[in-house]
Amino acid sequence: MPPVFRFAPSPNGYLHLGHACSALLNFDAACRSGGRLLLRIEDIDPARCRPEFEAAIYQDLAWLGISWEMPVRRQSEHLADYRAALEKLSAMGLVYPAFESRAEIARLVAQREAQGPWPRDPDGAPLYPGAAKSMAPDARARLLDSATPCALRLDMAAARARVPDLDWIEHGEGPEGAVVARPQAHPEAWGDVILARKETPTSYHLSVVIDDALQGVTEVVRGADLFWSTSVHRLLQHLLDLPQPVYRHHRLVTDGEARKLSKSTAATGLRELRAQGASLADIRGLVGLVRPA
Ligand code: GLU
Repeated sequence: MPPVFRFAPSPNGYLHLGHACSALLNFDAACRSGGRLLLRIEDIDPARCRPEFEAAIYQDLAWLGISWEMPVRRQSEHLADYRAALEKLSAMGLVYPAFESRAEIARLVAQREAQGPWPRDPDGAPLYPGAAKSMAPDARARLLDSATPCALRLDMAAARARVPDLDWIEHGEGPEGAVVARPQAHPEAWGDVILARKETPTSYHLSVVIDDALQGVTEVVRGADLFWSTSVHRLLQHLLDLPQPVYRHHRLVTDGEARKLSKSTAATGLRELRAQGASLADIRGLVGLVRPA
C-alpha cells in the first residue's frame, strides 16, 4: 500500500512561508515514495474561517506546483463523524460538560495563581481550573435540561487510566531538536482538553484524529508547533481504536527575530511574494527545500 500524506491548513488567514514549507515537504515526500497526497480544509471554526481564505489556499498550492487528490475533505461537512466519536467517548464515561464562560475560566485561573503557580499546557495556556467534573449530578442535569451552553471536556485522568502506556513513532525533530521523553510528552500536560465547543460540536484534537483515520493517513508531516499535541492525538487514537500514523514534525520557518510566523505579511505571505515576482525556486530557497532531482 502506498503511504498516504496530507496537508491540513485552516482557512483562517492567507498561507505564508511556514505553510509552504509544510505543504512542499508533504508533496516531495509523497512524490519520492510513490505515495498519495490528500488536502484537508480544517474549517471547524465558523468565526475565523472564510471562503476567500479557502479559495486562496487552492491558488497558492497550485502556484507552488503541488497537486493533491480530489475530493478535498472539508471538516465542516463531516460533523456527524466527530459527533459519533464523541458519543463513543461519552459512553466510555470519559467526557463531561463544563459550563464556565471564557471570562469565568480566566477569573478562576487568576484566583488559583494568586495562591501560587498554576500549571500551563505546552502552548503556555493555563490548564482548565474548573470544577465541572465533580459537579453534583442534579445540578449538572438541571443545566443540561435547560440547554445551557457548555463545552465537552475529556476526563484526562480517567482516559489515562485506560491507556497507561503511550508513545509515538517520530521521524522528525521535537521543538528542541531530538525527541526525548519529558513531562510535556504526556497528554496530562494538556489537562482536561476540550473535545467540543459551544459554537462548534468538535475540536482540533478530535477532528484531526478522526480524519487522519478515516482518510487512511499513514504519515503526518507537520510543523514542530504541533509536536506536543501528538500525545493527545495518540491517546484519542488508543481510546477510539484507530490506527497509528508515523509522525514527522519539521522545524518552523521563523521571521528575522526567530519568531514563528503567525500571519502572512508582505515578507512572508505567498500571495504577496507572488505579486512581488517571486518564483517557485525562490520560495523553495526561502524555506530551505531545493527541488528533489
Ligand atoms: N490545521 C492545522 C493548522 O493549520 C494543522 C493540523 C495538523 O497538521 O495536524 O495548523
